[in-house]
Amino acid sequence: MADLERVRVWAEALIRLHLDDGWTFGFDRAVKRAGLTDYTARRISVSKHLAARWEDDDVHQTLLHEVAHALAGPAAGHGPRWQRTARELGYVGGRTHRGEIASERAGWVGSCPGGHEHVRFRAPRGRYACRACTSAARRLVEIRWQRRATAA
Ligand SMILES: [Zn+2]
Ligand SMILES: [Zn+2]
Repeated sequence: MADLERVRVWAEALIRLHLDDGWTFGFDRAVKRAGLTDYTARRISVSKHLAARWEDDDVHQTLLHEVAHALAGPAAGHGPRWQRTARELGYVGGRTHRGEIASERAGWVGSCPGGHEHVRFRAPRGRYACRACTSAARRLVEIRWQRRATAA
């Protein structure tokens, strides 16, 4: 298992080396994904729960995965630009981490009055109804889409 203080030291060193001063590192409480890059807050975080259970190498790889997201930008997703950047940093893993769920990689999130979960990997075209809200209200209730500003 990795020592959390050491993880923080690595993370801050990687940020200093590859990103600018505006970026910070922190731990988060996620249980279903390893790391997160928040482009709005300019913050990279790693799950405290997973970091404490994983080996050093796995945590280090997670950090490289996230630094590559920060460098490649939100539009890159896990596409060629991100993959190239990640390889250059020394990332040898796949596009996702163990335990990462699909909805956390989706680029678009939708909201509806009923608070149901809506995610899409591609930009929504046209109008989408929330089926649950629509059937409860007996009229068409639309989903409002927003581009997700984070990458996991
Ligand atoms: Zn709904
Ligand atoms: Zn990712």
